[in-house]
Amino acid sequence: MNKINLSEWDKQFFIITKNKYFIMKNKLKADQFDQSKTNRRTFIKGTLAMGALTMIEGRGFAQNRGEVTQDGYYSEPSKNIPVYGSFDVIVVGGGPAGWAAALACARNKAKTLVIERFPFFGGTATASLMLNINGYRNQVDPDDLQTSKGIAEELILNLKELKGLGIGTAYAAKEYPTTKGNLTYSYPIDGEKTKYVMLKLLHDAGVNILFHTMFVDTIMRGNNVTGVIIENKSGRQAVFGKVIIDASGDADVAFHAGVSYWQAKPDERQLGNGLMYRVAMGPETARKAVGLYTDGGIGGVIINSDQLFWGPSARFDGTDGEALSQGEIRTRLAVYEHFQRSQRRQAPLLDDAYITETAPLIGIRQTRFIKGLHSSSNEDALEGRRFDDSIAMSACPIISYYGYRRYLEHTGYEIPYRCFLPADDVEGLIVTGRCMSSDQQSYESWRAMAPVICLGEAAGVAAAICAETGKTPKTVDVQAVRNRLVEQGAEIGQNNKHTPNPAFLQSVSPSSTPG
Ligand SMILES: Cc1cc2nc3c(=O)[nH]c(=O)nc-3n(C[C@H](O)[C@H](O)[C@H](O)COP(=O)(O)OP(=O)(O)OC[C@H]3O[C@@H](n4cnc5c(N)ncnc54)[C@H](O)[C@@H]3O)c2cc1C
Repeated sequence: MNKINLSEWDKQFFIITKNKYFIMKNKLKADQFDQSKTNRRTFIKGTLAMGALTMIEGRGFAQNRGEVTQDGYYSEPSKNIPVYGSFDVIVVGGGPAGWAAALACARNKAKTLVIERFPFFGGTATASLMLNINGYRNQVDPDDLQTSKGIAEELILNLKELKGLGIGTAYAAKEYPTTKGNLTYSYPIDGEKTKYVMLKLLHDAGVNILFHTMFVDTIMRGNNVTGVIIENKSGRQAVFGKVIIDASGDADVAFHAGVSYWQAKPDERQLGNGLMYRVAMGPETARKAVGLYTDGGIGGVIINSDQLFWGPSARFDGTDGEALSQGEIRTRLAVYEHFQRSQRRQAPLLDDAYITETAPLIGIRQTRFIKGLHSSSNEDALEGRRFDDSIAMSACPIISYYGYRRYLEHTGYEIPYRCFLPADDVEGLIVTGRCMSSDQQSYESWRAMAPVICLGEAAGVAAAICAETGKTPKTVDVQAVRNRLVEQGAEIGQNNKHTPNPAFLQSVSPSSTPG
């Protein structure tokens, strides 16, 4: 039962904290043992007796010194690094795709590690304040099929239980009652409750979580990706996995594994990046404002009494450290002017409103796309194509490519499993979320967060089945993956003949929500 209940969570957290205390004590002992074995310089002094002060003293690791080469590079010396652990599946990135992948993996009994650079899940949704989940069905008619179900649906129903859904919508669409199978196209979400629900579900599923951690390199054996190198406050470490899921958004793992990719140039077709910000206003003003934002304009959405603004945008290469930094600087310096323009346009509605928060990270819409065994295409999207290896669907509009919001004239197209798999001879790797294989037009449809969560879920189920059967991502029985997805409540399209498993669905049901 995955009903989210605040007081229950508090209780559990207390117990966990106590357990952690004991684990910490053991870890200190283990470290001491390790030091005597490996002659590391750090040592621990003091006593572990309850109530006494434990003192840690030490000295940093001495580095071998590298050299600047004649052609201007720095030659980094090799060194031995600790092994953090060994897992069935390592998920890199805890955005909408990686979060769902990790949850699906653990629920399918794989020993799962998720690595995330922020100390919370949600990626663009939470770190970039993109608190508006689109894409549960077609925004316009025909919209009779809810194309994003499973974990994507579970998230919304959990947020509903916690009163974590906003009011109004940036995108006009027919309203549905928000019950199982009856979700509306789009939902504004409370960011803090979203972080809480995401963490709680992963914690309850037994996922190993490593926050504040960057993926920095791949470990390869021949053409197989067999692990990753990570860096955090403990330094550089190696982690091994049977399957690695790249949900970094930027295809960081695939890039370091030498997988071919494409990327739109900032001045050609690239969807712009955007700095979201939050504005506070009184409840009375908020109520008046709802009418303004439910008529299809995208000035913002209302979450509680806060209003969320789509802020200054900029086009740049989000995989280039310098460009990324400059993009942040440009948009952050432009944010007050942006808000003042809105105030002038909507006067006197926002006269006493003020900015309370800018997103910690500018929202990066697109960077690398891997070249996969199939590339989700414009024709797939426009013609509503079906695939024997379909694992998710999208019915969302193509938002910019044609110069207008191009709605689909059918209930949804299917996305094949092969979009996750590099066309190059690389194994052990599944690439999901916004960097999977796609062309620009189709991407501008399936990129909405509801389908992206479904893509993450499919990647997680596939990886878990690989671990269970000893197969690789390219040799796994795709029909078994499809069957498992359907059993667990996913929507994978027309040619699916399998049926959901009521026991599984009951076990993850967020509530007694009817429907
Ligand atoms: C400005 C903007 C507006 C948008 N508007 C909407 C909208 O209204 N509705 C909607 O549904 N969608 C919207 N989207 C699209 C949607 O947010 C994305 O398509 C979606 O978030 C992609 O999810 P993802 O998990 O693939 O990638 P991301 O959300 O980018 O998540 C990637 C995760 O990986 C982590 N990560 C990356 N690299 C590393 C590394 N090396 N080591 C460790 N961790 C790493 C990141 O911290 C992040 O948590 C918008 C996007 C942007 C940028």
